[in-house]
Amino acid sequence: MKRTITYLMTSLLLAGFAACKPASEKTSGPTDYIVDQFADLQILRYDVPGFNELSLEQKELIYYLNEAALQGRDILYDQNYRHNLCIRRTLESVYQYASVDKNTEDWKQFEIYLKRVWASNGIHHHYATDKFLPGFSQTFFSDAVSSVTPDSLPLSEGETVEALIAKLTPILFDPTIDAKRVNQAADQDLLMTSAANYYQGVTQAEAEAFYGAMKNPSDEQPVSYGLNSRLVKENGQLVEQVWKIDGLYGPAISKVVYWLEKAAAVAENPKQETVIRTLIDYYTTGDLNTFDAYCIHWVEDLASRVDFVNGFTETYGDPLGMKASWESIVNFKNEEATKRTEIISSNAQWFEDNSPVDKAYKKETVKGVTAKVITATMLGGDCYPTTAIGINLPNSNWIRRDHGSKSVTIENITMAYDIASQGTGFNQAFMWSDTEIELAKQYGFLTDNLHTDLHECLGHGSGKLLPGVDQDALKSYGSTIEEARADLFGLYYVADPKLVELSLLPNADAYKAEYYKFMMNGLLTQLTRIEPGKTIEESHMRNRALIARWVLEKGADKKVVELTKKDGKTYVVINDYEALRGLFGSLLAEIQRIKSTGDHAAAKAMVEAYAVKVDPVLHKEILDRYATLKLAPYKGFVNPVYTPVYNKKGKIKDITISFTEGYIEQHLRYARDYSSLPTYN
Ligand code: ZN
Repeated sequence: MKRTITYLMTSLLLAGFAACKPASEKTSGPTDYIVDQFADLQILRYDVPGFNELSLEQKELIYYLNEAALQGRDILYDQNYRHNLCIRRTLESVYQYASVDKNTEDWKQFEIYLKRVWASNGIHHHYATDKFLPGFSQTFFSDAVSSVTPDSLPLSEGETVEALIAKLTPILFDPTIDAKRVNQAADQDLLMTSAANYYQGVTQAEAEAFYGAMKNPSDEQPVSYGLNSRLVKENGQLVEQVWKIDGLYGPAISKVVYWLEKAAAVAENPKQETVIRTLIDYYTTGDLNTFDAYCIHWVEDLASRVDFVNGFTETYGDPLGMKASWESIVNFKNEEATKRTEIISSNAQWFEDNSPVDKAYKKETVKGVTAKVITATMLGGDCYPTTAIGINLPNSNWIRRDHGSKSVTIENITMAYDIASQGTGFNQAFMWSDTEIELAKQYGFLTDNLHTDLHECLGHGSGKLLPGVDQDALKSYGSTIEEARADLFGLYYVADPKLVELSLLPNADAYKAEYYKFMMNGLLTQLTRIEPGKTIEESHMRNRALIARWVLEKGADKKVVELTKKDGKTYVVINDYEALRGLFGSLLAEIQRIKSTGDHAAAKAMVEAYAVKVDPVLHKEILDRYATLKLAPYKGFVNPVYTPVYNKKGKIKDITISFTEGYIEQHLRYARDYSSLPTYN
C-alpha cells in the first residue's frame, strides 16, 4: 500500500528545472514530450538520462528485466475484469482489420475508446475505477466486429461472431453492468459490487471469514495472506487459485521467469542474483514464505546500481486490500540526486524521535530506511501507462519492522510531468495571488520532490503497530489512512528548520510552495479528476481531501486557511503557515493513533466525514474553470524501445534506446509480442 501518485503538477519555472537537469539530458520543449491526448489523459514520453553511460553488462541486465516487465501485461487486464482480454483483443482486431468507413464520428469515438482501454488496462477508469462508456453506437460496434474475419477474433470454443457481439454489447454499453471495478462504498458487500476479478462468486463476509481463519494473532511474521491468488467457490468450497508457473496465469508467468533467468545470469553481484533467483522460486512455487524471503533479499540489496520491482505487489485493486495486482518497474540509481535522499534517510531516527506522534506509536529504532532517486527504464503492468512517482516497498509490516524498506522517487518521470506542464496557465487560473504563483515557480519542483521523498522514505516507514494489532484492521479504510499518514509526515517535516539546516531547502519560506499546492489540490483542484455527481474514491485522493478539509475545519476559528471568493471564483488563502503546520502535526498524531491501535471505527468516521463527499456547486465551478484551460488531468506514458545489437558471434555488444514509438504503435506491438494468456482465465 505504498506508492505515491502525483497530484496535478503545476507549472514550474524553466530555470528551476534546468538546475535539476543532468548535463547529458537532451533539451526538449514540452511538445516533444506530449505524444497523444484523448478523453482525460495526456500521454507523455520520458527520457532515460544516463542510460548510455551504463556498462554493457548493466544495459544487458536492464534489457532482460525490461522484457520481464512487459510479459506480465495480460495478467493485469484479467485481474481488473474477467472480460477485459476478450474486449481488448476484439477492439484491437477491429482497429487493425475492420472494413468500415474510417471517416466517421463513430470511428473517431472507437479510437478514443480503445486508447482509453489501453490506458486503464481494461474498461474501468484507471483511477476512479468507474466503467467508462463508448461514444460509438451499438450498430457501429456490431458492423465493425462482423467485418473482421472470425479467426482474428477472440472467440471461445464454439462461439460465433454473433454470440461474441451479443456477449460484449451489454458489457460495453449498459452502465449498470459491472459499473465499478473497486467499490469502496460503506455498508455494501464490496466483493459482490466490485467488477475486479480477484474473487468469483464469493461474498465479502465469506472472504473475510476465510482469511480471518488463517490468521494467527500471535504470529510475529505472518505471510501476506491471499496476496497471490484468486478466491473462488468450487462445489460450495472456497478455494484459492494461486498465480504461479503451473497455476493461474502460468503462461504469462513462465515468460516472465524466462527473462528473469537471463537476468540472473548477468546480475551485477551475487546478492542481486539471489534476489532474482528467489523471485523465480516464488513464481515457480507460489509459496508466500518464499515471497517474504525474496522481499528480504530485495530490501537488503543496496549495492546494485540496477534494481526492479516485478510481481504481485500493490493491493489497491482489491476492495479488501489483500490481493495484489501485477506490476513492474525497472530502473537504475540516479547517483547525483540520491545524495538528497541519503541525507534524509541517514537522519531517519531524528525525524522519528521528533515527530508529534505519541511515543507509544513510534519506532524506538528505525531500521534500514533506504531511499534513492531512480531513473525508470521500463514501466509494466499496473505501472503502465500511468505510473506512480514514488514507491516504498515491501508492504509486509513485519519485514518493514525487522528489515526496513526501500523507498524511491522516480525523477525522470516527475521531470516529464513538469516539462509537460510548463506554461499551461494552471497556476494562474487557480492560485490566489502572484505571491503563491511565484512561490510555486521558485520552489515547486524542489519541494514537490522533497515531499515525495519524505512521504516514501520516512512517512510510510515511520511508526509501529501496537502488539497484536492486525495489519488489515482498518479494512477498506486502510489505504486512505496509510497514505494520509505518509503525506502528513512529509507535510509536517517539509516545513521543519531541520531541512534548511541539512541544506535540503534553500530557506525557511520554500516549504510554503508545497503547503499552498497541497491545500489548493486537496480542497479544489483535485476535483477536476472527478466526474459530476461522483464521490471521491481513490485512496490517495481521499487522503488529500481528508487532510485539507480537516485542517480547514479545525483552523476555521483562527482563520488559518480560508476559502475566499474573488470575481465569483473560489480560492484557497493561507493566512498562517505556522499554524497550518501545527494542524498537520495534530492530525498526524491522530492518524498514527488510528493506525497503531487499529481503530476501525475512528478510521471510518474520519474518512466518511472528510474524504468522500463532493460539494456539487463547488465541483461544477472547478470543472468549468478547468475546462477553459483545455488540459488533461491524468498523464500516462509510452516506454522507450530498447534494441539489442549483436556481434558476429551472436553476443550482445550494445543496447540502443529510442523514443519515437507512438502510443497506438506501442500498444499494438505489445499486443502482438507480449500477450500470452488465454482470453479467459
Ligand atoms: Zn504512499
